[in-house]
Amino acid sequence: MKPSPELLKDILEEVRPLIGQGRVASYIPALEEVPADKLGIAVCYNDGDIISAGDADEPFSIQSISKALSLTLALQNYGPMEIWSRVGKEPSGQAFNSMIQLEMEQGIPRNPFINAGALVVCDLLQSRLSAPRQRMLEFVRELCGNNHICYDKAVAKSEMDHSDRNAAIAYLMRSFGNFDNEVMPVLQTYFHYCALKMSCVDLAKAFNYLANKGLSLGAEKTIVSHTQSKQVNALLATCGLYDGAGEFAYRVGMPGKSGVGGGIVAVVPGEMSLAVWSPELDPSGNSLAGTAALELLAERIGRSIF
Ligand code: GLN
Repeated sequence: MKPSPELLKDILEEVRPLIGQGRVASYIPALEEVPADKLGIAVCYNDGDIISAGDADEPFSIQSISKALSLTLALQNYGPMEIWSRVGKEPSGQAFNSMIQLEMEQGIPRNPFINAGALVVCDLLQSRLSAPRQRMLEFVRELCGNNHICYDKAVAKSEMDHSDRNAAIAYLMRSFGNFDNEVMPVLQTYFHYCALKMSCVDLAKAFNYLANKGLSLGAEKTIVSHTQSKQVNALLATCGLYDGAGEFAYRVGMPGKSGVGGGIVAVVPGEMSLAVWSPELDPSGNSLAGTAALELLAERIGRSIF
């Protein structure tokens, strides 16, 4: 059963009381300015149907959701060994910006969806793409058919101005020989990717390839192979929500990726891609009301990959 717009609206109203119980990310000052009461949801079916409610058309900072897009660009440009010799495939059980395992594990990040792993992926892209920022813009614009998608320069700058921790992570990996480029240009690329501005509708459309065997919305283009789409979904299910991945799998039951802008994308392979947005976060840095909305929707329409 496809949800009606009324069902989506009802779900948003049910989770709205959670607003006030989480915290908007404050360590990136530009993100703190986003109103905490934004709430939106969009579902994109593989047949192209889009159902949405609330602030689903309003662009926001996608933050770490971009880590799934940068991994996809890496899969398009590198062979598997070139990627997986430099970053692992295991859940970290640690905060997204943790460094603790990195020193113990010789500068090899646990997975591509924590900051360390995404920085390695950006380092790979920096080495092989002539204009990695422009390439990402073209990629996402094409994925969701929206040429207006752009970087929020104020957010990218705010992150660069508060980049000590990500810089430390990158330098530590460089000290272990797991970083080929100068740190600063790679950080610039990484922060721009995080500063992509997209709406729930854009995100649900963009991520449909993971619901549709690696094919773009409308099946016009192969983004990744069917096998690679399954592999990315497996990593999303185990690592996409950091130390909240188990909780998310338990409650929502779908591969997902969150960002500290309060967005979450989720995938039901073979059927649909979803996106929610509510800026207040839980202690793991995942949207509090967004997770609850996905949990209710999964329950109401009877979906889980498990
Ligand atoms: N840009 C953020 C950072 O690097 C992304 C973190 C996130 O969304 N979890 O800290």
